[in-house]
Amino acid sequence: MSDTATAPLADLHRHLEGSIRPSTAHELALRTGAQPRRTDFVAGLEGDLLPYLAKIENAARHATRAADWARITREAIADACDDGLGALELRFSPRFVAGMTGLDADAVVDVVADAATSHGLPIDVGLIGIVVRDEGPDAADHQMAALLRHTDRLVGVDLAGDEAGFPVARFAAAFDRAHHAGVPVTIHAGEAAGPESVWDAVRHLRPRRIGHGVRSAEDPRLLDRLAADGITLEVAITSNVQTGAATDRAHHQLSALVAAGVPVALCTDNPSVSNTRLSREYDLARDLVGDDAAERIRRHAFTARFGAAH
Ligand SMILES: [Zn+2]
Repeated sequence: MSDTATAPLADLHRHLEGSIRPSTAHELALRTGAQPRRTDFVAGLEGDLLPYLAKIENAARHATRAADWARITREAIADACDDGLGALELRFSPRFVAGMTGLDADAVVDVVADAATSHGLPIDVGLIGIVVRDEGPDAADHQMAALLRHTDRLVGVDLAGDEAGFPVARFAAAFDRAHHAGVPVTIHAGEAAGPESVWDAVRHLRPRRIGHGVRSAEDPRLLDRLAADGITLEVAITSNVQTGAATDRAHHQLSALVAAGVPVALCTDNPSVSNTRLSREYDLARDLVGDDAAERIRRHAFTARFGAAH
């Protein structure tokens, strides 16, 4: 076994809402009399981001109580620990969970953060608050204001949702507020839209990391910029194939990113929806870039944590 196969792992891009155990989602659905199928929660080759995101919503829609989200958070952390993670940055959208539960965004942050700080497991957990782009820039400002009321409980902020329908540049004002507050930023870009989306993120939202960003491989100048600026791409091989951001596993952009010297952290995105684990993503990465590069990626993931000392 290589070192990477036994050493602790760090996942910097994992959605709480996409980490609901299928068994838990099923149990919560039965409570309401629904009869879900496993394929409601688990993605195949969806070919686009939006049908993939619909699976997340299907898994979450029956988690209607605060206690459900505390349980989901505890289970997500336990599952990460079982997979050999030493560090996890778990991200969630208070707006999304509020829509499922009727709680306000502040209460959602408290429920998730309380569960994430009381697990008692040997894993370092940081929380990233998500701004959902799908209601436009004004709503994003409100979501960001709510997140910034909890900078003591969050290690960073993120922009997620319908990338192709809501271009990155429109959200610059919301993320200026995060920069003013000294809160690290990651942005979903270069997943459902091309390199221009990553350029816009870099120029206008100034992220320290990019969620996915794999379509940057289509633009060598952009790869040079990401490498020069040390912007880490949070890459999730299985998810990228399922959403169509990568054509297939064998032709995933990871090799091109590594060859260009772009910093990469290997991630799961949504382990339950994508039916994967971080240890498996490392197996896939070793097949693509070899043991040495996979080990460099593993080490880099720890240093690229928002919660790490800089
Ligand atoms: Zn994501």
